[in-house]
Amino acid sequence: MTRPRILRALSREQAYAYARALLFIFPQLLSRTSDGRIERASRIVRSPIFPNHLPGCYEVPSESMIGTDARRVIYIVDTLHRTCTCPDSAKGYICKHRLAVALSTHGPEAIRKLQKMRLSHEISSADFQEIIEGRYPA
Ligand SMILES: [Zn+2]
Repeated sequence: MTRPRILRALSREQAYAYARALLFIFPQLLSRTSDGRIERASRIVRSPIFPNHLPGCYEVPSESMIGTDARRVIYIVDTLHRTCTCPDSAKGYICKHRLAVALSTHGPEAIRKLQKMRLSHEISSADFQEIIEGRYPA
């Protein structure tokens, strides 16, 4: 088992490029989440995300607690079981916490996949450029 690693903070541009790349490769993702959640996930990843002691698990702070004096609420994202302990996830959605972890862990791989698609002409260079540099939300 690989050691859990800290997911380093992403820039806003990186987070959006990863989000667009993931949505391009997994368009069905949007049926279980929303632009709003993706936007909020892009804010969460501006700070590092720390692994939990459990395999495949990360601790993601509740966004509403950021900057308040209230005790910090931490949600646990389990990438092996594809769950999060937040109320949104309990309703069956892919919550912003799971999306935040997905952006950090799968974003670079999604970009590499797009680069391969461009090289094999599955997508045009213009499409590639738009995915990487376009605005999000569109
Ligand atoms: Zn969640």
